[in-house]
Amino acid sequence: MDFLVAKAKHDELVKLIEKYAREYYIDDNPSVSDQVYDQKMEELEAIEKEWPELITRNSPTQRIIGTVLKGFNKITHQVQMLSLADVFNEDELTDWVKKTNIEVDRDLEYVAEMKIDGLAMSLVYQDGELQYAATRGDGTTGEDVTTNVLTIPDIPTRIPLMGRVEVRGEIYMPKNSLEELNKEREKNGEPLFANARNAAAGSIRNLDSRIAKSRKLDGWWYYFTNAQDFGIKTHFDAILKLKELGFKTNPEAKVVKGIKEILAYVTEYTDKRDSLSYDIDGIVLKVNDFSYYDTIGYTAKTPKWAVAYKFPPKEVRTKLLDIIYTVGRTGKITPNAVLEPVRVAGSLVQRATLHNEDFIKDKGLMVGDTVVLRKAGDIIPEVVKAIPEERDGSQKEFTMIETCPVCGSPLTKIDAMHFCLNKSCPSRNIESLIHFASKDAMDIETMGEKVTQEFFDLGIIRTIPDIYEIYKHRDKLITMDGWSNKSVDKLLDAIEKSKKNSLERLLFGLGIKEVGSKMAKTLARRFDTIDNLMHASVDDLVKINDVGDVVANSIVNYFKDEHNIELINKLKEQNVNTIYLGSNKFDEENAFFDKKVVLTGSLVSFTRSEASKILEDLGAHVVSSVSKATDFVLCGSDPGSKYDKAMKLGIKVINEDEFKNMIGGDKQ
Ligand code: NAD
Repeated sequence: MDFLVAKAKHDELVKLIEKYAREYYIDDNPSVSDQVYDQKMEELEAIEKEWPELITRNSPTQRIIGTVLKGFNKITHQVQMLSLADVFNEDELTDWVKKTNIEVDRDLEYVAEMKIDGLAMSLVYQDGELQYAATRGDGTTGEDVTTNVLTIPDIPTRIPLMGRVEVRGEIYMPKNSLEELNKEREKNGEPLFANARNAAAGSIRNLDSRIAKSRKLDGWWYYFTNAQDFGIKTHFDAILKLKELGFKTNPEAKVVKGIKEILAYVTEYTDKRDSLSYDIDGIVLKVNDFSYYDTIGYTAKTPKWAVAYKFPPKEVRTKLLDIIYTVGRTGKITPNAVLEPVRVAGSLVQRATLHNEDFIKDKGLMVGDTVVLRKAGDIIPEVVKAIPEERDGSQKEFTMIETCPVCGSPLTKIDAMHFCLNKSCPSRNIESLIHFASKDAMDIETMGEKVTQEFFDLGIIRTIPDIYEIYKHRDKLITMDGWSNKSVDKLLDAIEKSKKNSLERLLFGLGIKEVGSKMAKTLARRFDTIDNLMHASVDDLVKINDVGDVVANSIVNYFKDEHNIELINKLKEQNVNTIYLGSNKFDEENAFFDKKVVLTGSLVSFTRSEASKILEDLGAHVVSSVSKATDFVLCGSDPGSKYDKAMKLGIKVINEDEFKNMIGGDKQ
C-alpha cells in the first residue's frame, strides 16, 4: 500500500471506529458486533505499524474513547483507568508472554482471570468510607455514578482499612437477568440490549437510579490500585485482600506460570464459559508481581503488563431440519431455518432467518445438513455455513417455493427477494391485526407489532377473531423461543381484558376508513351500541358535528359489507363488548339532544367555544349555517345574518337566558 492510499484508508477507519466507539461507550447501543469492531481496529493497527507517521495522539489506537454524560458529575481518576491490549489467538498470546518475560529477563508468574463483559468501575474509599463510584469515561475523567452503584447489594460502603483505597472491578448483569430483561423489552417492543456489557452500562449510566435498582446488577472486584501502599506485593495477594475486606472477588482467578499452564487455563474456560452465570468475552492475564509493572511499562492506552485474550465468536453446530416460509406485510417471502434446538450464547435457538433464495444457494445449504450457527452481535442467530462432510445422503436439495404459502398466488422475484403481489392475500391482514391490538385501539398489552407478526407468521392469527382464540395455542406458545408460562399468561390476560373495552376502542380497532380515535369516541357516545351504529343511515350520521358525507358513507359502507357483519357477529359471540361504557352518556331527555344548533352574536356568560362544548356534551350538533334542518339558533348580542335567516325560515331562536334555563344553570 502506498502512503496516500494508506492515509485515505486510515482516515476512513478512524472515522468508522470513532462512530462505533461512540455508539458503544457513549450511547451504550452498538450497531456492530465486537468482532467487527475488533477487526477494524486490527486493520487500523496494521496500517499504523506500516506507516507510523500516521499515528497521532487522537488515533483510536492511542486513546480511550468515552465521555461524561450530561447530568453526571465528573470525577478525575487519580490513577488513569486504562484499557487492555487484545490478543485473538494462542500464537499472539504466546508472543505476549514471551515479550513480557524477555522484558524482565525471567519466567514470570501471571494471574489468569475472567474477562467480565460489563462496565469498568472505580470505588474510592477514605478511612473506610466509600467516597464515590466512577465510570472509566475517557480514562482520565469518569462519571460519578455512586447513587446507582449503591443500588447493587454487596457493594461495601464501609471497609476495615484506613487511608485512601481504590478498588476497581466490573459491574455486570448476570446472564439470566439479561435474558429476562431482553424478553421483557421484546414484548414491549423496546430495542434489545446487544450484550451484557451494554445492559450493565445502560443501567448504571442512567440518571434514574430506579432503573439500576430494577436491573439485578452485580460486581466482581479485580484490582486494588494502590495495594502497594499497604505493603501488598503481588496482584493475587491484592485480590485476597479485597476478599478479606468484603469485596466479591471472582473465584476463577488463578496464578499460572509458563505458556503450557496459561494455554490450559484458556482452553478450560473457553469450554466452561457457557456454564458460568455471567458473560465473559475473554481471559485477562496480568503479571503477578507488582515490582515489574514500571519496568514492563504502559502505552498511552494500555498497561503492557496485562493482556486480554478475546474469545472467537460463539459458534455451535446443529441440524437444519426444515426450511419454512413467512410472508411479511409487504408480501415479502422470507425462508427461515428450522433448527434442532441448540443453546448458543446463553439462549435456546430453533429458528434463524435465511434471508432469501440467494443466501441459501450461496451457502449451498441442504435440508438435513449439519450447519454452523452463531449469534451475530450475541443476539441474532445466524447460519454461517453447512458442513458438507457430514452429509449421509439423506439431505434434500433446496428449491425455492414458487407460490405464496398463504394464498397460493405465484410469486414474483424482485432483486433477490420473492414477493406475493396478491393484494387480497390474507398476509396483508397483518396491518389490521397490528392496528386492532395497538394501544389506542384495543390496547392489548404485550401484543406489540413483533408478537403480532410472529403469531401471524406461525399461522396462529390470520383474522381479528383469531386473537380471541390464541388461548387454544397456549401449550405450543409456552415452548416457543422467548415465551414462558408467565409471559403467555400475561398475554392471555391482556387479550381477555380487552374484551371489556368500551365501544370506541373496538370501533377504532376495526380500522373503518375515516374513523380515527376521536371520531370513534363521538360515534360511540352518540350511538351507544354497535348495533345502533350499524343501523344508522348517512342522514343520521351527517347530523353529527364533524361527520361529513365522506365519513358517513364510509361508515355505512363498512357496515353493509357482509364480511364485516360476520366479523362483528363473531366478536359478539366471543363476548367482546360492543357497548359504550363511558360515564358521560347523553341524557336523551334534554332539549338539545340530537338537535342542530347554530350560534350567532356574542354571549356574556360563555365564550362561543364553551357554549359549543356544552351543547355537544348534551348531544347537540353544533353547525355553522342556518338551514331548514336547524332546530335552534342561540343568539347573543349583535347577531349577524344568521339571525335574519332563522327568522325568515321560522327557526326557533333562543337568547342567552333561555339557553341557561334550558341547560339548567350558568355553566354545566
Ligand atoms: P476491553 O473491554 O477489551 O478491555 C478493557 C476492559 O476490560 C477494562 O476496562 C475492564 O472494564 C474490563 N475487564 C473485564 N474483566 C477484567 C479483568 N478481570 N481485569 C481487568 N479488566 C477487566 O477494552 P475496552 O477499551 O473497554 O473495549 C474494547 C472492546 O470493546 C473492543 O475490543 C470491542 O470488543 C468492544 N467494543 C465494541 C464496539 C462495538 O461497536 N461493538 C465498540 C467499541 C468497543
